[in-house]
Amino acid sequence: MNARTLLGTAARRLADAGVESPRVDAELLLAHALGVPRARLLTLAAVDGRAAERFETLLAQRADRVPLQHLTGHAAFRYLELAVGPGVFVPRPETEQLVSWVLEQLTGVAEPVVVDLGSGSGAIALSIAHEHPGARVTAVERDPGAIEWTRQNARARAAAGDTPVEVLAADMTDPGLLRELDGAVDLVVSNPPYVPDGARVPREVADHDPPLALWGGPDGLDVVRGLLRTAARLLRPGGALGIEHADAQGETLPAVVRAHGGFTEVDDHPDLAGRPRYTTARRVG
Ligand code: GLN
Repeated sequence: MNARTLLGTAARRLADAGVESPRVDAELLLAHALGVPRARLLTLAAVDGRAAERFETLLAQRADRVPLQHLTGHAAFRYLELAVGPGVFVPRPETEQLVSWVLEQLTGVAEPVVVDLGSGSGAIALSIAHEHPGARVTAVERDPGAIEWTRQNARARAAAGDTPVEVLAADMTDPGLLRELDGAVDLVVSNPPYVPDGARVPREVADHDPPLALWGGPDGLDVVRGLLRTAARLLRPGGALGIEHADAQGETLPAVVRAHGGFTEVDDHPDLAGRPRYTTARRVG
């Protein structure tokens, strides 16, 4: 089958199904069906019947709004390829900037103690360990479905030579969480569930990202309030806090952090698209 025709038809079908980036998704799924890198498609003339069948199966699922990353089985995040699938939140590019901020805070600190609250695939925690090998990172995840992926990715990165990340099954709002690290943590980072209950999200998100990773109560900040208590207890005086939030929370989240009383230097930062994306602060002391 002619590759160009196949891709053209596939992209139109995905566009009709409401997929946001139909051409790119069609190309990535065809590359996946063929078991080749996407760049190889440039010089590809024909697709054999077996691969075309595999492509058709993938395409039908993508048209039914199964996330692209569930179909390929991995998601790219900074320098890493993370395994993802049913049960775990697919890491998003807009979270990469938060990790850049984290790494800036850790510059010059040989062995910083870092805690990632609500780790999911482990994207944030494992990126920190990969890019700051001296860091002692703990990844906290409460969702039994998600933590299987945290563990799988942590094992894979350690096997690839990165500094091992400790994975802990626990609720980030539990007052007993990591008691042994009280006042000893240099940095707490989180991409918590922050979507306000009832908000409209794409089908890929609503039907496939785990609810525990998304929904944050009426204003989306319920989990954040509990997270702040944990962060205030764990952080040493002067320790840093970074929390991702929704586009509409660029003022409300900093206000909640200020209202807590235990933090200073509360700032908000945009993502690469210029939308308010994460709040940072420092533990008073
Ligand atoms: N940014 C996510 C979305 O696109 C929500 C992530 C979260 O709640 N942490 O739905």
